[in-house]
Amino acid sequence: MRCQKAQRLISAHLDGELPPGKQAGLAAHLNHCAACAAELKTSQKTKEILTGMEWFTAPTGFSRRVMTRLDQTEPARPFFVPLWLRFAEVAVLLLAIGSGVIFGRLLSLPVRSTDMESTGLSLELFDPAPAGSLGGVYLAMLEDGHAQ
Ligand SMILES: [Zn+2]
Repeated sequence: MRCQKAQRLISAHLDGELPPGKQAGLAAHLNHCAACAAELKTSQKTKEILTGMEWFTAPTGFSRRVMTRLDQTEPARPFFVPLWLRFAEVAVLLLAIGSGVIFGRLLSLPVRSTDMESTGLSLELFDPAPAGSLGGVYLAMLEDGHAQ
C-alpha cells in the first residue's frame, strides 16, 4: 500500500468504517511507515479535540424565525438587460476588434527590402536538393532524361 492510499484510509479507520481487508493493509503499512503513523497520530489527536468540544444548541424558535424571514424577503428579479444595452455591448466589442486591426497595422514596422527580410521565413530560402546531395543528383538525372 502506498502512503497516499494509506492516508486516505486513516479517516475511515478512525471512524471504524474500514472493511477488515483494508484494515489489515493499513495496519501493515503503518508498521513500517513513520510518516503515515505520524499522520494517524495527528488525526487521532484532532478527533479527540473535536469530540471533546462543547455542543451548542440553537435558541428556542431559531429555525422558525429564520424560515419566517426567508418567506418575507423579496423574490429575486429575473435577469433582465435592456435591448439597447446589448447593442451597446456589441458596438463596444466591434470597436475594440476594429481598432485592434487598424492600430495593429499602423504600428507594424515597415520591412526593409533586403534579400533576407523580403523573403522572410519562406521555404524558398532552403534548397530541397543541394547539388552534391543524393536528391540533387537524382533531380539532375531527371532533368538530363527529360532533355533528351
Ligand atoms: Zn506511508
